[in-house]
Amino acid sequence: MITPVPLLGSDQVNRLPERAREVVEYRKSGLSLNHIQGCPLGCTYCIRHTYGLWDQNQPVALMTDARAVEELVHHRYFQPHATPIQLFNRATEPFLPNVRPHTFAVLEDLDERELTNHVLVITRHRLKPDDIDRLNRLHHLKVTLLFTYSGIDSKKIEPYASHVAADSLKLMSTPPLRKYRTVLYWRPLVPGLNDTDEHLATAYELSRYADATVFTGLFYRDQIAEYYKTNGLPEPYTDTARRKIVPETLERRVLDAFSHSSALFRKTSCAVSYAHGLPDYNGHYGIRELCDICPLSQLELCAGAHRVPTAEDVHHVAGVLPEANNLKVVDVSERAVVVSGLGTEQPRYFLQHTLGFQIHDQHHPHHERRHGRADIGWKGTPA
Ligand code: SF4
Repeated sequence: MITPVPLLGSDQVNRLPERAREVVEYRKSGLSLNHIQGCPLGCTYCIRHTYGLWDQNQPVALMTDARAVEELVHHRYFQPHATPIQLFNRATEPFLPNVRPHTFAVLEDLDERELTNHVLVITRHRLKPDDIDRLNRLHHLKVTLLFTYSGIDSKKIEPYASHVAADSLKLMSTPPLRKYRTVLYWRPLVPGLNDTDEHLATAYELSRYADATVFTGLFYRDQIAEYYKTNGLPEPYTDTARRKIVPETLERRVLDAFSHSSALFRKTSCAVSYAHGLPDYNGHYGIRELCDICPLSQLELCAGAHRVPTAEDVHHVAGVLPEANNLKVVDVSERAVVVSGLGTEQPRYFLQHTLGFQIHDQHHPHHERRHGRADIGWKGTPA
């Protein structure tokens, strides 16, 4: 008997932390819908720590699925057929038995609207043969299932075993004709925890089932570090960072272990786009050093789509956003447009996805060869 997810009343919703009440939020890989929040799986590095939601270990609904979809498609950042969508990637697990019906309700509602947007669904849960049939009935959306797999054995760090995600990836990747795509979302890679040669070889074997693989490190934010300290867990780094941490030597070893792979990516949007035979929707092609592991056919696709916008183009696109009134275009190059005056990250992602080109914040510069990654573990920076 599955317990339905309780629907909170407005008083209860108003008592949630402010950021938790933001049901639609723009994150780097897409506009994220999170009207169900709470998860019992207890991964210690969960992003819920940063939203004041860690103690919410059972899913609750902030609104109905129908209303959530309405909020999404009428959001000022939403553009039909263009904006990548992420479903339940911030505060719950989309295939928990009682969350699964909501996941399908949202996907089916969006699909009935004949929207062709990317939809990213990140999971580590057990999937079932029925899920294949139901996903195959979606006609329009470009759905990608990303299977979070770390290979971490410590139950203290990751109580829900990684092999479940591995089994689900194999199951969902088996049908040769599928409407959806599968990605091995190999993360978080943490030195000393899950980076032995054996771990890397196992991940490589698993990657052969998926349409694409992306590897990434740990988001080691202040709240997560605090939790590690309080609970006596081994702290993986001496410092925290706003970006994911992938030390240089670990990246080199991953590339060596995957030297026979033709579908390994550093960026989630690259893996998702490749799996659907499309150019990267985040426009990473300008950051040339990211592309040195990419298959030639994909390089050609991205090269064909690469258009450097003018400052006027950027202002024109930003013109629909009141929060972009103080936007300044600081620099335009083949790599990226550098801007200031946007306040938060969200409008920047709107510009990036509309233009299909990297938009960087002047105050958070990217360094060559470690784009989008923390400085920790790279030459000349703290270990
Ligand atoms: S060519 Fe570059 S931007 Fe395009 S998918 Fe490959 S790595 Fe990403």
